Amino acid sequence: MRLTLKKVLQATVLVSLFSLSSLAVLRLASSMKTETVDFGVNSSNSKWTGRIALVDTASPEQESDQFRSHNVEYSPPVTSASSTTLDDLFISVKTTKNFHNSRLDVIIKTWFTLAREQTWFFTDSDDEEYREKTHNHLINTGCSSSHNRMALCCKMAVEFDTFLESNKKWFCHFDDDNYVNVPQLVKMLQDFSWQDDWYLGKPSIKAPLEILDRENMPGKISFWFATGGAGFCLSRSLALKMKPLASGGKFISIGDKIRLPDDVTMGYVVEHMLRKQLTVIDKFHSHLEPMKFLKHSQLSDQISFSYSRYGQEMNVLNLDGFNNQIDPYRFLSLHCLLFPNFSFCPR
Ligand code: UDP
Ligand code: MN
Repeated sequence: MRLTLKKVLQATVLVSLFSLSSLAVLRLASSMKTETVDFGVNSSNSKWTGRIALVDTASPEQESDQFRSHNVEYSPPVTSASSTTLDDLFISVKTTKNFHNSRLDVIIKTWFTLAREQTWFFTDSDDEEYREKTHNHLINTGCSSSHNRMALCCKMAVEFDTFLESNKKWFCHFDDDNYVNVPQLVKMLQDFSWQDDWYLGKPSIKAPLEILDRENMPGKISFWFATGGAGFCLSRSLALKMKPLASGGKFISIGDKIRLPDDVTMGYVVEHMLRKQLTVIDKFHSHLEPMKFLKHSQLSDQISFSYSRYGQEMNVLNLDGFNNQIDPYRFLSLHCLLFPNFSFCPR
């Protein structure tokens, strides 16, 4: 099934159209590959001085064990109406070969260790180093490695089809510049049933998107969509209803027809084609929001975070911790705030 789909996708995605980035994001040049780096303080607290190994000293198994023993909230409450657990989730992360070095290390070192079995990286090339680092969870979609609508819809199509092939109850998509607070994601999903139709995420626009209805000119179609860069989830029940419309490469054709990016296409399929509504989850955050406005006291309740650079300005969380050289995106510091028992966190 995957091979056939791959061929279809490869054949379909030959043409590069326009670039999708609504905001020009300068690629962060600093590589996270250095094995051991000195780091200074970004905080008055001297516990943050010392050295940090960017390559794990503790095995992922040890990290997971620490997590289990020190973070009791991880298990769903017994009184919860639904029994959703981490293992009910299929978490996909969209990436591209040019970002493996600069974006994946920090994910692999932090939140990926908490959902290693459930998280899959969808990329556009084979990469032995990252295949190993992700414990064989790097999927080469065969899609083009450019940032155009077709390539991104192609990746989303493979993410969606791979979820359908799994037996998981929830599909949650993220970008490779997201930090996912795994226990909070699970906790949020416990409020919903995978057997009902749910499209959970956060829009970045104040009103529904209006597009021309090409089949009924001069009509218009309006719908909400969840920003892909903040993350969103679909219940299996809804995904199964989407299957006849959007699986096996059809998602790419729809994106091509409406000429809009993958996350918008997702909203179009769910809201317009299936008439199901997006449920807004405020705890998802993309870098279209100013990260610095997220208050320190609220951080542990949030589900996703991001970062970006606009010219000279970094849009990152404002929080104490490792210095900006070692932690330019602030995700290491965030992780230590949420899970202080990790081996690289100061004690
Ligand atoms: N991406 C991709 N191919 C590209 C460029 C980006 O698959 O050629 C992915 C990237 O890895 C990320 C998402 O698309 O998961 C969004 O990219 P980025 O954050 O660079 O841009 P944004 O759209 O957020 O401004
Ligand atoms: Mn981004």
